[in-house]
Amino acid sequence: MILFIHRKDLRTIDLPAFDAIHSAGVASLHVLILDPFLLRKERYLEHSGYNFLTQVARLHQDYILAGKQLHILYGEPDIVVKKLVQTHPIEQILVHTDYTPYAVKRDKQLNATASSLGIRFQTYSGSMLCDLDEFMEWSGRAEPYKVFTPFYRRWRTFLTERFRPPYSTGIKDLQTASLEQSVATTFRVPDEVERLLRQLSSRTNDLDAYRKLDHFLSENLQDYTVRRDKYAEDGTSRISRYLNTGAISVRMIYTRLTEEERGAEEWLRQLAWRDFYLLQARLDADFFNYENVFDLTSLGTRHFEAWSQGNTGIPVIDAAMHQLNETGWMPNRLRMITAMFLTKNLGCPFIYGERYFRLKLSDYDNVLNRGGWLWSSSLGFDASPYFRIMNPVTQSQTHDPSGSYIRTWLPELTELSDKEIHLPRPGAIVDLKSSRALAIETYKQILQSKKKAASSSLLFFL
Ligand SMILES: Cc1cc2nc3c(=O)[nH]c(=O)nc-3n(C[C@H](O)[C@H](O)[C@H](O)COP(=O)(O)OP(=O)(O)OC[C@H]3O[C@@H](n4cnc5c(N)ncnc54)[C@H](O)[C@@H]3O)c2cc1C
Repeated sequence: MILFIHRKDLRTIDLPAFDAIHSAGVASLHVLILDPFLLRKERYLEHSGYNFLTQVARLHQDYILAGKQLHILYGEPDIVVKKLVQTHPIEQILVHTDYTPYAVKRDKQLNATASSLGIRFQTYSGSMLCDLDEFMEWSGRAEPYKVFTPFYRRWRTFLTERFRPPYSTGIKDLQTASLEQSVATTFRVPDEVERLLRQLSSRTNDLDAYRKLDHFLSENLQDYTVRRDKYAEDGTSRISRYLNTGAISVRMIYTRLTEEERGAEEWLRQLAWRDFYLLQARLDADFFNYENVFDLTSLGTRHFEAWSQGNTGIPVIDAAMHQLNETGWMPNRLRMITAMFLTKNLGCPFIYGERYFRLKLSDYDNVLNRGGWLWSSSLGFDASPYFRIMNPVTQSQTHDPSGSYIRTWLPELTELSDKEIHLPRPGAIVDLKSSRALAIETYKQILQSKKKAASSSLLFFL
């Protein structure tokens, strides 16, 4: 029997591990382990955890509709797996790769446990458009790409030459196994999470990711290039929450996209950013460690609370934070503006904003979120130059001239004219001009602090 563990692959089609199970021709035990660490502090009540559980509930429904079994368990993955192996004739464990530091550590542990039990632990790449190892070998590089545009060019060619079409096995082709009752009892999902999952499964029909994709491709793709930054118009796909949980397959998206003409290239470019960051997470040893690589001690958290609650007095910032807090959504341009404002004008270390987005974004993804925060705070590969600081007022005037987005999320400002609505309110917590000048100076020093650290470690070794 094969044990298959769902993680960020919450779907039942186009999964390389399903193809492998099908070829092996044996029964498979399918589990999804709700990890107490990842659900700590009632995270499932925040937008990010809620979205994850919504996709879990829908996945469970998909299994039921196909007449197959998915077992949802609650516990530390390593302990659950040990128990499963003791109680079921498992010979192999299959999973899809996950790149976050927590996931890498968890999988290392699972691998060690499996080998101590004489079982094979096999991972498959399922979340990127280009398989990382194949891409690096094909492009003849040992080092990761540090600049997006050359990466994008190679990535495009790679896809044209080597794109691997979606895998053909679906859950209906597999023979799923039952779970021993003792395991189900030991790792029972807590009542409140169970209740939430039940509620969510009755509401999953309106959440079909593929219908959402079709709608975007037929209605919005052709104007994507001109509308993607007009955040009041909602012209992007909003597919991220499905992509990040694996509810939709990126290979199937690509296959559909190649049938389209207008707007496809620009949209594909965004999907390339996704792979660019996933690639860095795997290949840049500092990706999850930049807060220790640079000296951020000159920054502080004085204004963090006002920023997070949308009380800064800068209308576009406050409107965006209100939308985030209420709905779990914020358009990309506004993520860039609010992140840059927090890290630069308000001089707050990026990790505070990153942590806040982690809870609040429905489409939260550890890698893409960090990538966005590194970009905004001028750290990491191909980040925004430290001296180029977005002015939230100018951004608002450019991308939403009538201020309709601000009027939606800050109704108390509705009466202001189109000209006034973008401007800082009386009592705004910072002056944009002087805080910008200070940020340029501060970040110049921060970026130099890396060099100092490198040369001081060199001195140490000399
Ligand atoms: C500070 C900050 C934090 C972010 N945090 C997240 C996060 O937690 N989860 C997340 O999915 N995205 C994050 N992003 C990237 C981006 O904002 C979202 O992917 C995008 O807004 C999702 O909307 P969409 O699906 O309508 O995108 P579309 O414009 O329709 O693009 C399609 C897909 O391309 C990818 N994509 C688009 N823009 C980017 C980008 N800038 N970087 C990487 N991939 C991109 C996404 O997978 C997206 O779903 C963050 C960006 C910033 C600046």
